[in-house]
Amino acid sequence: MRLLIADKFPEAYVADFRALGLTVDYHPDATADELPRLAVDAQLLVVRSTKVTRAAIEGAAGLELIIRAGAGYDTIDVAAASERGIYVANCPGKNSIAVAELAMGLMLAIDRRIVQNTTDLRAGKWNKKEYSKADGLKGKTLGIVGIGAIGRAVAQRAIAFEMDVVAYNVPFSPEEAEALGVGYCATLFDLAARSDVVSVHLPQTPETKKLFNADFFARLKKGAIFINTARGGLHDQEALERAVRERGVRAGLDVYDPEPAGGTADFTSPLFALDGFAGTHHIGASTEQAQNAIAEEAVRICREFLQRGQVPGAVNIDKPSAEEVQLVVRHFNKVGVLAAVLGIIRKFGVNIEEMSNTQFGGGKAAVAVLRLSAAPSAEMLAEIAGLEGQVIQCAAKSG
Ligand code: NAD
Repeated sequence: MRLLIADKFPEAYVADFRALGLTVDYHPDATADELPRLAVDAQLLVVRSTKVTRAAIEGAAGLELIIRAGAGYDTIDVAAASERGIYVANCPGKNSIAVAELAMGLMLAIDRRIVQNTTDLRAGKWNKKEYSKADGLKGKTLGIVGIGAIGRAVAQRAIAFEMDVVAYNVPFSPEEAEALGVGYCATLFDLAARSDVVSVHLPQTPETKKLFNADFFARLKKGAIFINTARGGLHDQEALERAVRERGVRAGLDVYDPEPAGGTADFTSPLFALDGFAGTHHIGASTEQAQNAIAEEAVRICREFLQRGQVPGAVNIDKPSAEEVQLVVRHFNKVGVLAAVLGIIRKFGVNIEEMSNTQFGGGKAAVAVLRLSAAPSAEMLAEIAGLEGQVIQCAAKSG
């Protein structure tokens, strides 16, 4: 089978793909425009940031699986892949630790003014007098907004720093907060009022855009630290700048809105000049540990697909709803029994949406589980159960 890796990928993991018996075409500098030509005879495709367009998908007649070596997959035309029965899988949560580490780094950098210390040393200035005051993180309250994969990784680290952690999330309950070992905040403003440090780990959606606005910053304690390593559109940068100037709020940002698309650019903001600001260049996920964790997951997905026909992390599969009807057929594992069952289902005009067949030890019996487009009628069940000497039991299950 031919695997195309159309992006930079850690070399050790390219070797792992080869060890799966794949013919690997590695094109670290591939562009979206080149992809239709490069992918034409690929069965498997791995990308990081290279866009996978409808043209690339439709031109690759043998394509079976696209793996996005990262969390988001908006760079892939998932609808085009779904129309042709091509799996799209991603590697979510694998960069959480890297982002959490950066959030902790920004907190420490702001509290101890590490950037200013360094700048003075670079300028040949010793200024112990100026820098010998800081709050310290121990005993301070950290408010985490969005306690998903990254928020939890931050909570874990902050607890190790002996901070008191509280969280706000939608949806969330006091019981869930307790299970995570954090305090429960019923509202965002409740969190703002309680926190010495706020760290934001939300997705950017129409509901969360500019959630951190003048109203929010007005409710922060004076001198509180606001960290955003999630998305720049979540905070109103002008309102944040005013809070830094007027209320002594200190800001640690990795993300901005807008921010340059490429690797280098001129980029400035009045906020950057303020002493209460520390910033990085949208590098939250950019550690070797995170890139390796993602690469390892991409190899695992590929291995599962090749060896078991399953795609962990598939994002374009219809998930069964709670009311979904399953037909469970326990049978004597004889040649033709499945064909006979499928023939009966077809006769009743019902479609099979998903199906598995698992053989028991010794190979004398097996169980087929079929997800159907409609509930099986009593007649259908009776006909399947009546496959003499072939079917042991046949039942419909729902919920
Ligand atoms: P996640 O989906 O695991 O967690 C997000 C959490 O936010 C969930 O618990 C969800 O319930 C909660 N949530 C969603 N909408 C909410 C709302 N309106 N109010 C309150 N809570 C809400 O995501 P994650 O992996 O933890 O990532 C969080 C964000 O971090 C991502 O969406 C991404 O934007 C950002 N990120 C940044 C970098 C970087 O390089 N700086 C890297 C990776 C991810």
